[in-house]
Amino acid sequence: MYPDRVVSGMRPTGSMHLGHYHGALKNWIRLQTELPCLFFVADWHALTTHYDDPSVIERSTWDMLIDWLAAGIDPSQSTLFIQSRVPEHAELHLLLSMATPLGWLERVPTYKDQIDNLANKDLATYGFLGYPLLQAADVLIYRASQVPVGEDQVPHIEMMREIARRFNHLYGKEKGFEEKAQEAVKKLGSKRAKLYNELRTDYQQDGKDEALAQAKAMLDDAQSLSLGDRERLFGYLEGSRKLILVEPQARLTEASRLPGLDGRKMSKSYGNAIALREDKESVSKKIKTMPTDPARVRRTDAGDPERCPVWQFHQVYSDLPTREWVAKGCKSAGIGCIECKQPVIEAIIREQEPMHERAQAYLDDPSLVRAIVADGNDVARKLALETMRDVREAMGLAYT
Ligand code: SF4
Repeated sequence: MYPDRVVSGMRPTGSMHLGHYHGALKNWIRLQTELPCLFFVADWHALTTHYDDPSVIERSTWDMLIDWLAAGIDPSQSTLFIQSRVPEHAELHLLLSMATPLGWLERVPTYKDQIDNLANKDLATYGFLGYPLLQAADVLIYRASQVPVGEDQVPHIEMMREIARRFNHLYGKEKGFEEKAQEAVKKLGSKRAKLYNELRTDYQQDGKDEALAQAKAMLDDAQSLSLGDRERLFGYLEGSRKLILVEPQARLTEASRLPGLDGRKMSKSYGNAIALREDKESVSKKIKTMPTDPARVRRTDAGDPERCPVWQFHQVYSDLPTREWVAKGCKSAGIGCIECKQPVIEAIIREQEPMHERAQAYLDDPSLVRAIVADGNDVARKLALETMRDVREAMGLAYT
């Protein structure tokens, strides 16, 4: 119905590290070659937890954009923009808030978890409670078909789908919808119109999902239909409403396999991170001083890689022969820990070399990043306005 599109954002609350790279950015880099992608800096989301000290946000925004570009996000393939530069996100958030039951927000599992995890901050705010709704607006405003998420974020996508469904139900009513939909069916041509009606009956009477999928595919191919008729026929398939907002699908990504230097989740606040653009000397020093299997007190003590965080780095960075060399050498005390760490140090430095090179161009001339983002803001805003025109009209706010 609407073109396939991916939307994803990150909060600018500090510099990016290799955990972000392996956990999210590598996935974005892959996605940008498959589908049109919109990647945004979620500066309003950063404010939901950093409202008392927003100083970090602006600096982190530009650093983060350079990190994305350094990592391999290609502005000729992806649209990069800043959330607050597309104010329609806030408008849709406000409009969705009118009809979103409070209980939907309170039951989002990460809401309570975050409040517990960030116990040092007062998060009993209106903005923090509403952040999943702002996330929904971020995605629905682009009629995104896919959102890359980890397992823990799936409930957020489920909620976005419920919000889109509720919105379409409440505001997709149209005077004379049934008649207009039947007129639109005729425009498919007699053969297709007959098939459409049969598939609609199969789905509505017998709940056949394959009939719904086949009918949707047929509508996708029916290029002669106007956008309005197409929306009607998609809505008519499932009920008697126009589909104004699109229900996105979660695109599951593997959780990051790269832990922090101490084996816990990599996080700047734990002091166990390697920055995406960390210099070589510092990378080498950090890995050399990484904790290892506590049982290997002396070089002659045998160890167990499963008890060592360096082993988890080998899982990400080393090929099979190297991993076999580590496992054998560790268990037999045939290799020392410094020797074991050397291939990891070399692999990280190798991984970061092209990132440093790409970043340098943007550090030398910051106007390049500004220009990429200005273009991205324009592209995103245009798409957002297309949706908002329909949303305003459906809610009686078009004033034409
Ligand atoms: S040899 Fe390697 S895997 Fe074994 S304890 Fe030392 S650093 Fe860890």
